[in-house]
Amino acid sequence: MRWDSVIGLEIHVQLSTVTKIFSGASTLFGAKPNSQACAIDLAMPGTLPVLNSKAVDNAIMLGLAINAEIPPISIFERKNYFYPDLPKGYQTTQLEWPIIGKGKVPIFLKDGTKKEIRIHHAHLEEDAGKSLHSGSFGSGLSGIDLNRAGTPLIEIVTEPDLSSATEAVIFAKKIHSLVTSLGICDGHMAEGSLRFDVNVSVRPNGSTALGTRTETKNLNSFKFMKEAIILEIDRQIEILEDGGTVIQETRLYNGETKTGYSMRSKEEANDYRYFPCPDLLPVKITKSHVQEIQKKLPELPDERSIRLVSEYGIGAFEADILSTSKELSNYFEIVAGKCKNPKQAANWTLGELMGRLNTANLPIMESPVAAEDLGVLVERVCDHTISGKIAKQVFEAMWKGEGTADVIIRDRNLKQLTDLKTLNELVTSVISDNPKMVNDFITSGPQHRKKKLGGLMGQIMRRSKGQADPKRTNDLLARKLCELTNEQED
Ligand code: ADP
Ligand code: MG
Repeated sequence: MRWDSVIGLEIHVQLSTVTKIFSGASTLFGAKPNSQACAIDLAMPGTLPVLNSKAVDNAIMLGLAINAEIPPISIFERKNYFYPDLPKGYQTTQLEWPIIGKGKVPIFLKDGTKKEIRIHHAHLEEDAGKSLHSGSFGSGLSGIDLNRAGTPLIEIVTEPDLSSATEAVIFAKKIHSLVTSLGICDGHMAEGSLRFDVNVSVRPNGSTALGTRTETKNLNSFKFMKEAIILEIDRQIEILEDGGTVIQETRLYNGETKTGYSMRSKEEANDYRYFPCPDLLPVKITKSHVQEIQKKLPELPDERSIRLVSEYGIGAFEADILSTSKELSNYFEIVAGKCKNPKQAANWTLGELMGRLNTANLPIMESPVAAEDLGVLVERVCDHTISGKIAKQVFEAMWKGEGTADVIIRDRNLKQLTDLKTLNELVTSVISDNPKMVNDFITSGPQHRKKKLGGLMGQIMRRSKGQADPKRTNDLLARKLCELTNEQED
């Protein structure tokens, strides 16, 4: 039997507001435990929450970016449960009246087709604190750090529209790219700024009824997300093929051991006794306020990609990759502006630079080669000062901090030989030093000549230490060999 998989995501986006959602405490990451939780975050008697208007505006920005309805009224509710990292005894969240209604986000699959993922809704809520187990306080002990309590979150809930781990990751990356382009989230996944819960079910190929799903919580890397989904799909198929039934449950995934395990089943699920929070007024959002925010919305990844294609004439595929990050596309635009050859600029940014950054595991903001400097290097290739091959050598030296392209080219004497007289001498000397190769060329059939010519080109490039202008040299060599062949045949 063949199986189809069905996936829906719940995404927690930590907003990068300076203060918390209901208090003036700082949201800065990495502070000393419990130094950033105030009486309001702990719901001490007599305190009252005040909604952070920046969090509301961030939510409106996201709503516009995911083509969603923004209802005029939304309401905060209390979700009651007991857990040590939840000092209030309830989480202030939204349920029936979320701040963002139905929306849709297009994604582009590998084969170029577009798929629209429906957004069920997105709501505002506060984050909980963190339990730390057997950390610095010794084994068997747990500590609570409440710094994160009250940090504003937006939870985005999709419809079950994704059909594979690959699609889920494409969508997750799209959301990452959207929220970082909007500037509402720092996107630091390792610090938990973006966390994914994946709902997974399978059904017989072609069936339209949904199967029983499980939810794997709190995945904070695209890699783990992909692994967890694939593992869960396989687990469910195996159960069903063995005649069993999938139990609706909440699961966890351990990225170290590559294993998934059950956390709690539906029967053990909490009864949260939601009710509207009496301490917070309904949030009213006027049309004119939404329009004001719409006007100030920055360029979004899809718009940028379209602009890169029309303004620079690069391919849609390259433009799409460049537009996933604001920093990357900014970088590209500086390189392209400097060298005035956008295609080469895209090749160098996505090829040499990204390759090097990935190996070194560095974000583009920390690139040892500045965009202006890469622009000059690409310009030196385009104006034939150096060949593409030598340019890679120069790039290596620039990466190691040995100077700018021009300094390295000058100090190492890497300038391409373009002078016709010098090239002529070079070609003539290689021809007279390699009579066998030349004879091979003359006596071989036309279909083999390209290869034979390549052999002689190799000799010339070696002799010139890679500096001979390949195009001019090739033309000269071809002409000379042609003359020799004609002489022989006469
Ligand atoms: P609950 O109210 O129990 O949290 P929801 O209906 O809100 O459940 O769904 C939560 C998430 O699970 C959504 O992202 C939704 O798309 C996804 N989901 C629901 N049913 C399925 C299913 N059968 N298979 C995969 N995902 C599902
Ligand atoms: Mg849910």
